[in-house]
Amino acid sequence: FDQREGHIWYDGVFVPWAEAKLHVLSHGLHYASSVFEGERAYGGEVFKLEEHTERLHESARILGFEIPYSAETINQATRELLAKGNLVDAYVRPVAWRGSEMMGVSAQSNTIHLAIAAWEWPSYFKPEERLKGIRLDMAAYRRPDPMTAPSRSKAAGLYMICTISKHDAERKGYADALMLDWRGQIAEATGANVFFVKDGKIHTPKPDCFLDGITRRTVIDLAKRRGFEVIERAILPDEMEGFEACFLTGTAAEVTPVSEVGPYTFTVDAITKTLMEDYHVEVQPKAAAKVAAAG
Ligand code: PMP
Repeated sequence: FDQREGHIWYDGVFVPWAEAKLHVLSHGLHYASSVFEGERAYGGEVFKLEEHTERLHESARILGFEIPYSAETINQATRELLAKGNLVDAYVRPVAWRGSEMMGVSAQSNTIHLAIAAWEWPSYFKPEERLKGIRLDMAAYRRPDPMTAPSRSKAAGLYMICTISKHDAERKGYADALMLDWRGQIAEATGANVFFVKDGKIHTPKPDCFLDGITRRTVIDLAKRRGFEVIERAILPDEMEGFEACFLTGTAAEVTPVSEVGPYTFTVDAITKTLMEDYHVEVQPKAAAKVAAAG
């Protein structure tokens, strides 16, 4: 991934992709003092860019550091990066980390770096493919208590258990894994939030120890606009027996139906299909969305 064409915005300047390097003694690498975002551009515009940038700033503050670039600067850099690379449908990855001046747990005076990369990533909106649903394993690791980890930060360190869980699931032939929280309640997948449907109502865990995804909030709004009831509550794994449908939400996942979680099976119901389509329309740049809604 490090030998591509194009540019990466790095500490205020555009550098050739292959030259966007950092020192091996960076604090971010050793002590996970690193936060990032996952964004997506549709038709040349990042969906909810301002919210992602705000979350990036907030993630860093939770870890005790301030990103030395304003939201305006970051948003402008992102737009320039997309324009420079002629990127229309793309994934955008900002990452901020503590640099290499001090090597130890304490890194009070280390420089805070910020890089933004973007690459072409079309949204293959093929409902017929997605409607098969994906299969999830149950993860062995659990989301930690917010007293144990900075749960509200999109911090690199919190992804350690996600990568382990995802690799375990892939080894067994599953697409992803569903994680419980430290109490044994359903939390989320390794990079997406989870929803269930039963008797025409939508149920989703309260985001009290994992990311309250931007897609999650968008989908809840879309569901309410359709008049569906959305219940945010503690959900225990054995309740999956009675749920009819399940889907994931996330910048990358968009709205992805789930056909299986461990021993439980689900259908792709009308509510899931409606929300998949509504989300697809919602993410389009405003002018295009009007055409899509009319046509
Ligand atoms: N949970 C985790 C662990 C994630 O990595 C993501 C993706 N950022 C989400 C939830 C969904 O968040 P969003 O909808 O903001 O992409």
